[in-house]
Amino acid sequence: MAAVVQKYGGSSVAGVEKLKRVAAKVAERRRAGDAVCVVVSAMGDTTDDLLKLAKQVSPDPPRRELDMLLTAGERISMALLSIALQELGVEAISFTGSQAGIITTDAHATARILEVRPVRVREELERGKVVIVAGFQGVSERKEITTLGRGGSDTTAVALAAALAADCEIYSDVAGVFTADPRVVPGARRQDELSYEEMQALARAGAKVLNAQAVEFARTTGIAIRARSTFGGAEETVVRAGRGHERIAGVAVEKEVALVDVPAGAEARVLAMLSAAHAPATRLEGAPGRLVLAVALENVHGFEPLAAALRREVAGARIAADGVGAVTVVGTGVAATPRVREALVGALASLGAAPLAIESGPLEVTVYAETRLLADTAREVHRRLIG
Ligand code: ADP
Ligand code: ASP
Ligand code: MG
Repeated sequence: MAAVVQKYGGSSVAGVEKLKRVAAKVAERRRAGDAVCVVVSAMGDTTDDLLKLAKQVSPDPPRRELDMLLTAGERISMALLSIALQELGVEAISFTGSQAGIITTDAHATARILEVRPVRVREELERGKVVIVAGFQGVSERKEITTLGRGGSDTTAVALAAALAADCEIYSDVAGVFTADPRVVPGARRQDELSYEEMQALARAGAKVLNAQAVEFARTTGIAIRARSTFGGAEETVVRAGRGHERIAGVAVEKEVALVDVPAGAEARVLAMLSAAHAPATRLEGAPGRLVLAVALENVHGFEPLAAALRREVAGARIAADGVGAVTVVGTGVAATPRVREALVGALASLGAAPLAIESGPLEVTVYAETRLLADTAREVHRRLIG
C-alpha cells in the first residue's frame, strides 16, 4: 500500500467550511486505497493571535510557556479534522506531536527534530485509519513540549514522510513555489522544479511557502517535497536533488530583521547576548572598525528587552529593529554575476534609496532596506532579472 503524508497549512483549515473541504479531499485519497497521514497547522491566524495574547501578559514571555500556549493551536485543528473525517464515515485518529513520536532538542521556540518514533502512527495506519498529527510541535527527551519555529508544520510533515517512507505533499494557498511571492509580484511564475539548495536559500531569505528546516530535513533524508494548492488543480513544484545549473531561482523578501551595528571590540559580548536570547545573527559587510549583524526576528519573541540591554550595555551600539527588512535574489551563480548586485542596488536607487547593508552567500545576494521599500524593490528586481 502506498503511503502519503499530506500537510495542510493554516489558510487551508481557516474555518469550519475549509476544514470540511480538506476532510473531503483526505477521504477521497483514503478511499482510493492509500495510507494517509495528515499534518495540520493551526487554523488561520491562531498562532499570531496566541502570541499577541502572551505579549499582553508579558513583553518577554518565557519560551517554555509560549510553547505550551502555541501548541494548543495545532491541537484544535487536528481534533476538528478527525471529527470531520469520522463524520464522513472515514476512520481517523488525531495525535499530538509527542504522541506521534516527534522527538526534539530542548530549544523552546526553535527546537530541531532529533528523531521520529512513529510507533502509534504506524499502528493506526495499519489498522486503516487516517492519522492526523499536530504540526509544528514535538517533545524533548526531558518530556518538555517544544515547537519547531514558525512555519514548522512543514518540518513535521517531511520528518514523518521520511520515517514512514511515504510521499510528502505540502498544501497551501498557492500552487507551488514561484519566482517571487505572487501576492507581492503579480508577474511571478511557478517553478516546476527546484533543487534542495535553491529552495533552502529561498526559504531562509523569506519565501515562507516552505520552511527552511523542512527543506534541510528533506535534503538530508532524500525526500521529495511536492508543493501544491489545497483547493487548486494539479500544478505543483517538486523540490528534490537537482544538478546545479546557472539560473535565478527567485526573489525573496524578509520583513522582520534587526540590524545590530556595534564597535568591533564589543563582538564577543554582543554575540553572547544575542545567543543567550536565542537570536540568530548573520555577519554583514560593515564600516571599518564596526561589526554589523542581521538578526532574523521571526522566532525571537521579545527583541525589545534585548535591544534595550544592548543599547544600555554596549557603548556606541546602533540598533534598527523596527521597519527593516531584506530583499534577496537566489540562484546558482548569482553572487558571481555583477548584474544581480546591480539590479538590487539599482532597484533601490530607483526608489531614491541605498542599501543599509549588502551580503552575499554561495547562492544569494541580499540587500537590507527599510520595510516600506521592500515590495517595490522586489517587483523592480524581478522585472529587471526575470521579467
Ligand atoms: P501555510 O499556512 O499553508 O503554511 P504559508 O502562509 O506559510 O502557508 O505559505 C504560503 C504563502 O507563502 C503564500 O500565500 C505566499 O504569499 C507566500 N510566499 C512567499 N514567497 C513565495 C513564493 N516564492 N512562492 C509562493 N508563495 C510564496
Ligand atoms: N502554526 C504555526 C505557525 O503559524 C506553524 C505552521 O503554520 O507551520 O507558524
Ligand atoms: Mg507555512
